[in-house]
Amino acid sequence: MASIKMLGTGHGFTFDLFNTCFLINNNNDFLLVDTGGSAEIVRRLKMCNIELKDVHNIFISHCHTDHILGLMWMLKRMSKIFAKGNYAGKLNIYCNEEVSKAIPTIYSYLFPIEDVNILNENIQLHILKDGDKFEVINLKFTAIDMKAKKNDLLGFDVNINNKRLCFLGDENCNPELYDRIRNSDYIMHEAFCLDVEENIFKPYEKHHSTVKSACEKMNDLNIKNLILYHTEETHIENRKELYLEEGKKYFNNNILIPNDMEEILI
Ligand SMILES: [Zn+2]
Repeated sequence: MASIKMLGTGHGFTFDLFNTCFLINNNNDFLLVDTGGSAEIVRRLKMCNIELKDVHNIFISHCHTDHILGLMWMLKRMSKIFAKGNYAGKLNIYCNEEVSKAIPTIYSYLFPIEDVNILNENIQLHILKDGDKFEVINLKFTAIDMKAKKNDLLGFDVNINNKRLCFLGDENCNPELYDRIRNSDYIMHEAFCLDVEENIFKPYEKHHSTVKSACEKMNDLNIKNLILYHTEETHIENRKELYLEEGKKYFNNNILIPNDMEEILI
């Protein structure tokens, strides 16, 4: 059985939604994709019955606070687990070059030298460039450089149960990538807010989309299932209904607006 479990679905400044991060589960094995920006990541993993000693594979999409800083709260605890010998193998972190430089730089300033040394010994960084293939949790991934406007942003394409899923990170999709993602079974795309509230949240200034603009683009690309996340949080109670109502006008296939901790079966 394979699924996507959304640990968080909020943008970088949300409080009541956790920052966007998720698990790809495949037959009792999992890849954590991004880590949010706070220690809440540890609690969210616990809510999924995952202890830190069982986390072996993490993908970090880019170097922004809401995606990478949760990792520091995990590593602070994991350095103790490594030190006690309570961890099997290495912690594999898949990321681009920028993130691979940031991770050890950040923790070398945050933690005592003995913890830093233990982390250096126990973390295996896998630096990915556009088009690189990697296999983890028995799934075949291909890295996609999202050609983002802000920091270097890495997405991926993965085959799950003969379905093609593409994770596009947290910027609106660069048109140069349209041909590569066309006809996908699942696209994971950010949508900052409703189009009718564009004047309030100003998503385009931040290289984000509205529900309408994401849906229109993905409809043109013949996407079968569109998963939207990385949103504002003023409509938590009825976000699903409001976003679906707007999205359905512009997207003919299936739209998913997951809540925090919702699981999507693939
Ligand atoms: Zn973000």
